[in-house]
Amino acid sequence: MTTHAPHSHGHAEHKHTEHAPRHAGGHSHRHYGEAMLSVEEALERILRHFTPLESQHTPLLEAIGQVLAEDALATHDIPPLDNSAMDGYALQAANAHGASADNPITLSVAGAVAAGELPTVAVTPGKAVRIMTGAPVPDGADAVVPFEDTDEMQRRADGTPLTEIAIRYQVSVGDDIRPAGQDVRKGDRVLQADTMLRPSEIGVLASLGYKSVSVFRRPVVAILATGNELLEPGDPYQPGMIYNSNTYSIAASVTRYGGVPKLIGIARDNLDSMNASLQDGLDSDMLVTSAGVSKGDYDMVKDVLAQHGEIDFWSVRMRPAKPLAFGVLNAGENRKVPLLGLPGNPVSALVAFEQFGRAAIRRMLGKPDAPTPTITAVLDDPIHNTDSRRVYARTVIRLENGVYRASLTGDQGSNLLTSMARANGLAICPEDVPVKQAGETVQVQMLDWTEETF
Ligand code: AMP
Ligand code: MG
Repeated sequence: MTTHAPHSHGHAEHKHTEHAPRHAGGHSHRHYGEAMLSVEEALERILRHFTPLESQHTPLLEAIGQVLAEDALATHDIPPLDNSAMDGYALQAANAHGASADNPITLSVAGAVAAGELPTVAVTPGKAVRIMTGAPVPDGADAVVPFEDTDEMQRRADGTPLTEIAIRYQVSVGDDIRPAGQDVRKGDRVLQADTMLRPSEIGVLASLGYKSVSVFRRPVVAILATGNELLEPGDPYQPGMIYNSNTYSIAASVTRYGGVPKLIGIARDNLDSMNASLQDGLDSDMLVTSAGVSKGDYDMVKDVLAQHGEIDFWSVRMRPAKPLAFGVLNAGENRKVPLLGLPGNPVSALVAFEQFGRAAIRRMLGKPDAPTPTITAVLDDPIHNTDSRRVYARTVIRLENGVYRASLTGDQGSNLLTSMARANGLAICPEDVPVKQAGETVQVQMLDWTEETF
């Protein structure tokens, strides 16, 4: 197998590192970096700028997917009292000794207790108390026998009063009694800080009585599209123009990963427009722009960003989404906002956001660094890697005879957004592999993992 030397395909500018100023385009006074980075290097440099945001008391339901900033403690036992696991009769197990369907033992019924009530009668020898699921077990009782093991149903059908009950089963001490504190003990640290809240944790917090919780705040991500050719959805169609889709696909990704998108519109391809638009994003936790980072038209963006912060332009060894900008914008006294400049092509923007934007949001939410869930699949089609980049190929993953199969969604042009919509995974051909043949296994980042997927 021929291996491609990492730098053998780079053009002259790729050899510059971030420390090597680029003297070109009449901007020789500016020190723009133009490093050629691996995905991991780019990610590492980006993540250096992010830490968990401050904690915030948040209504319980809004905290789904957020991360606890403090331990959750129990102020009471759960369940609070010994209670019944069944609808049935509380009794003393010794009183049912030898009971069976052929040898029922009749007890007198001393009273009843429902969930939400406290028992008013105790169980004494020869007596039973009718009890509902979740109701506290009366004093004196040490077992519950369910209706099914009594003549309850027959009595009800016959209209026989429930003043007595026949027990048809020899229960043991503790049967169908759920002891106080079985789930949670008063004083327990039930959930630790740094726990991500899923529906089950939201339920646990509710069971502890929490109405709101302290979680790391959701990041506000400002999103700016750039380009003279862009219309907003809803605008009348104009020949030669295209609708801005990046703002919406990126905003939706922000929401999906737990951030709050702030749409700050479209900047045109001139300095004034860029500067004016960026103002609206300075109060955010991260700015994301799209377009204007590819060769040919990015000098304008470079100038704007260099004037108001420190921005590096990178070539990332990936396909799609090679051109990427990252840095910080000055946002007033002692405040800097990280800026992620995505490529303009809609697939590139989404793939780059998946690799870098998602990770930044996770950091700010206090989540552990974790890649997009990745599976191993067998390729149906080859993936070609012509220039030693890491290829993220749009694929449809399906399960066949217990094996995941990956088929490409067709032409991999980075402008073809519908091919991204058809895909549920990104199959990876590594940098140093010129081709992954059909039949070979690949790693696939799963963009979604829902019941609709398979
Ligand atoms: P650029 O990076 O400005 O060269 O843009 C690369 C390609 O992406 C061009 O075909 C643009 O028209 C397209 N593009 C840029 N911004 C958007 C956007 N917000 N929505 C959809 N396509 C875009
Ligand atoms: Mg453009």
